[in-house]
Amino acid sequence: MYKYRETSGKRYILSVDNHEEIGEALTAFCRERDVRSGIVGGIAAISQATFRFLDPATKQYVDKTFDEQMEITCLTGNISRKDGEPYLHLHVTASRRDYTCVGGHLLTARVNGACELFVEDYGLDGIGRKFDSETGLNLYDF
Ligand code: FE
Repeated sequence: MYKYRETSGKRYILSVDNHEEIGEALTAFCRERDVRSGIVGGIAAISQATFRFLDPATKQYVDKTFDEQMEITCLTGNISRKDGEPYLHLHVTASRRDYTCVGGHLLTARVNGACELFVEDYGLDGIGRKFDSETGLNLYDF
């Protein structure tokens, strides 16, 4: 029905510099601090972003880029490892100038303003990813 592991780790606050790309910065941070599994959340102002939608019927990814100033009203996701490298699974909701929102998986986002995140390192090794042919997703493997 489910699987679980108890965690015991560290917590960080992370401020990503203006004009940096959030995924690149988070990946670099995970390498620097050797975060092998964890949770990430936060808020940001961005000028460009690419989101991803997985169509479950076709198992095809549909990516869309937004070249406009937006507020990430909620970034949430997790950190694991795949093939020995940090693997970020991030979802976002972002608001536009007209206060409507768009969202999806976050592939890339360029900071234009502030980006204030928290990272909790679960302190666990062996939280990996394995491709699942039924869903077309890289599911947790532990
Ligand atoms: Fe997802």
